[in-house]
Amino acid sequence: MIVVACIKQVPDTTQVQIDPVTNTLVREGIPFIINPYDTHALEETLRLKDSHGFKAVALSMGPPNAEAALRKALALGVDRSILLSDRVFGGADTLSTSNVISAAIRRLMDEDEIGIVFCGKQTIDGDTAQVGPGIAVRLGFSQLTLVDRIERIDTGARTITVRRKLEGRYEIVEARLPAMITVVRELNRPRYPTVPMRLASAKAEVERWSNEELKLDVNSVGLKGSPTWVSRIFSPQRAQGEILGDGMNDPVAAALMLVDRLVEGDLLAV
Ligand SMILES: Cc1cc2nc3c(=O)[nH]c(=O)nc-3n(C[C@H](O)[C@H](O)[C@H](O)COP(=O)(O)OP(=O)(O)OC[C@H]3O[C@@H](n4cnc5c(N)ncnc54)[C@H](O)[C@@H]3O)c2cc1C
Repeated sequence: MIVVACIKQVPDTTQVQIDPVTNTLVREGIPFIINPYDTHALEETLRLKDSHGFKAVALSMGPPNAEAALRKALALGVDRSILLSDRVFGGADTLSTSNVISAAIRRLMDEDEIGIVFCGKQTIDGDTAQVGPGIAVRLGFSQLTLVDRIERIDTGARTITVRRKLEGRYEIVEARLPAMITVVRELNRPRYPTVPMRLASAKAEVERWSNEELKLDVNSVGLKGSPTWVSRIFSPQRAQGEILGDGMNDPVAAALMLVDRLVEGDLLAV
């Protein structure tokens, strides 16, 4: 059974600069890292390799320099690293990113059964949290988001039980395998590569799959397959905050007060 970790290489900064003319990220001069949430996805993949003997695969879609992230995954212990890279994949929004990653996973399914696809809960650059669910829907996998603990995996019954970390509560969910799981930081503590593993990974092969392998309609990938249209990206000017009904215990009265203020400020039409 294969476990896949989807990892994205992202700029190593939370202060992402936006080109005001093209509305795209300024990528020059910025070091890249594995998206922090994806390091936890990778770690869980490795733990399942250790505990269940699953085959661990790291997958990334990106430009040729994303190979660095996949090489790091090899140094940590994955069995295979695959880079999905082709000019026609460039300029992808979340829809076409999910399309390409799903097609690659489908290709892996021709080789062996897929048990789990791990993704981070979101990236620190795009931040949409759409790619994982997009993969689950396209592949017809169970969708388990915001997971902070794997409770149980029953490979015989093909089920998995996880804990989801929601706002102010936890949810225990059992689902059928194969599953797509998005993970939060609390799931685990990522390991560091050992020096021998790092040296070995420098010589290990990162597989490169282009659209020749995936055979996707070029109109469904990259810029052509991306219906997202970015009209403008900007940092919002923050107005001074205001606390309404401080100390109020009645949620209905608080909600009514909020609606009144929004209507007064022409922010809500009733
Ligand atoms: C408003 C907006 C406009 C954009 N415009 C453009 C554009 O014009 N051109 C352009 O090139 N990009 C653009 N992007 C970026 C592009 O949509 C994303 O890089 C990509 O689709 C992934 O989405 P995300 O970063 O939001 O990932 P999320 O959905 O937040 O990621 C969730 C998880 O999915 C997995 N994942 C996501 N992306 C990858 C990947 N590439 N490989 C492997 N795993 C992955 C990871 O496990 C990740 O933790 C834009 C994004 C936004 C939000």
